[in-house]
Amino acid sequence: MRIRDHLAKKRRIVFLTAFVCWLVFGIAGFMGSPSKHTGMPPLMLLAFAGFMGCVFFMLFGLRCPNCKNNLGYAIQWPTSFWGISDKLKFCPFCGVELDKEMKDLRTRPSSLSETRGGPPQADG
Ligand SMILES: [Zn+2]
Repeated sequence: MRIRDHLAKKRRIVFLTAFVCWLVFGIAGFMGSPSKHTGMPPLMLLAFAGFMGCVFFMLFGLRCPNCKNNLGYAIQWPTSFWGISDKLKFCPFCGVELDKEMKDLRTRPSSLSETRGGPPQADG
């Protein structure tokens, strides 16, 4: 599976979940009887929370599988509804090609954080 397909699949699932939450929110809003409860019905609140969770995941949860940086804003490019836009070729942070296979990625166990050894220790 290519990186592009992996991200598109995640995006589709979150988008459909957000759409279902939005529908439930609307239906619960129409079905909820204001005579019994004051304020929002609990199902409406739950659907709203789910929708907002999906929006935040789309903005901050879609990350490059190579460098783990946030691709949320870049992926939401509106030219492609179900997939990642073909105009987006590389990760803007690490430069990995989005058409690269997931299995070909190097697994780097946080080698970027070098050991500094802390503050210098004073002798005696
Ligand atoms: Zn990256």
